[in-house]
Amino acid sequence: MKKADVIIVGGGVMGSSTAYYLRKKGFEGDILVFEKDPTYKYSSTARSAGGFRQLYSTSINIQLSRFSLEVYKNFADEMSVDGEKAEIDFKQPGYLFLATERMLPAFTKQLALQNQLGVPSEILSANDLVNIIPELETSDLAGGLFCKEDGYLDPYSVMQAYRKNARSLGVEYITAEVSSLKAECGRMTGVQLVDGTIYSAPIVINCAGAWGAELGEGIGLPLPVVPLKRQIYIFDSTKKLEKMLPLTIDPSGVYFRHEGDRIAAGYSDDVKPGYDFNWKRSSFDHLWPILAHRVPNFESLKLESGWAGLYDYNTVDQNAIIGEHPMMKGYFVALGFSGHGMQQAPGVGLGLAELICKGKYETLDLTPLRIERFTDNDLVLENAIV
Ligand SMILES: Cc1cc2nc3c(=O)[nH]c(=O)nc-3n(C[C@H](O)[C@H](O)[C@H](O)COP(=O)(O)OP(=O)(O)OC[C@H]3O[C@@H](n4cnc5c(N)ncnc54)[C@H](O)[C@@H]3O)c2cc1C
Repeated sequence: MKKADVIIVGGGVMGSSTAYYLRKKGFEGDILVFEKDPTYKYSSTARSAGGFRQLYSTSINIQLSRFSLEVYKNFADEMSVDGEKAEIDFKQPGYLFLATERMLPAFTKQLALQNQLGVPSEILSANDLVNIIPELETSDLAGGLFCKEDGYLDPYSVMQAYRKNARSLGVEYITAEVSSLKAECGRMTGVQLVDGTIYSAPIVINCAGAWGAELGEGIGLPLPVVPLKRQIYIFDSTKKLEKMLPLTIDPSGVYFRHEGDRIAAGYSDDVKPGYDFNWKRSSFDHLWPILAHRVPNFESLKLESGWAGLYDYNTVDQNAIIGEHPMMKGYFVALGFSGHGMQQAPGVGLGLAELICKGKYETLDLTPLRIERFTDNDLVLENAIV
């Protein structure tokens, strides 16, 4: 039997950030990361839109994004390896929720909490909006909630930088699929691979994303997380826009931003859970009229490409589930990010590393995201889920 001190299942952005921060926090034992696909073809990280925002309605989500934003600002230098900078295409053109008259009071309420936590968000009038997007159709809008610090980044590069740094600090990545978690008498004992090999470890961290809940079910510890397909579309607006777009969320839920000189757009369709990566060009038919109404320049767009990826979707309160399982010593999870994991990855990795090394959260208190919240009836009810 092979041994390690910590096993991480899944080497996406969560697994890699956790591995990296474990070392940064001084964890000296053997850390193994099992990743079934080193090309990351189907991982959520590689298929993410990479948006980050502090525009949330709950303290925990605001604080996590605010913390991660600071990390991402200095990421290129701090995560450089052998003098090579970790370029992550970090851009801060802002994040903008457009609001109808009916939506504005809820955004105003969110603003108070955001400002209290140091976020420089602001409510804009319909007239102000055209200073940001001159081509915007505002006749049916009352204004918007805007934060100039927010924006987007390249998720794959973030993940690769964490992975590279973790490896340079002695974390071992093994290309293999974990078939099951192993436990005895309420304690984790390790994992078994698809080829039958067993690795023992007293600590196992489930960072398997959209596949993670299934692994937990194998040891009788289900979590309310399902894989949910989300699609992204890339188009060329033949009539160019005057300014760089913030990541903009239309009242309908359709979002759009620049992707180089193209536009990336998406929408959370009502789909059944499942491992579906089939990108449907025809689904864009729903988005196009909304886009063309909101920005008339998009009337003559040319849809060029797109992709589908999976949210690890928390069906109960659509927020991350972080921490040690109350029924299983040594079993930690970081799952259920429901479409906002990229902006939480640094804070989550650091938090888990502190929990494992020091027995408590030190930098950010992630207790609200604990597993027990479902039985404690202490859900994290977030109004700003996209
Ligand atoms: C279309 C789309 C848009 C998104 N947009 C945003 C956004 O704008 N902003 C934002 O913050 N977040 C966004 N997200 C969410 C964000 O990308 C995810 O929350 C984040 O990437 C999750 O990272 P992860 O490491 O948990 O999962 P993953 O990146 O999926 O990594 C899990 C890894 O585990 C591996 N694995 C699974 N099972 C096993 C096993 N049994 N054995 C070994 N390896 C295994 C997988 O191969 C995978 O590489 C989006 C996601 C999608 C799909």
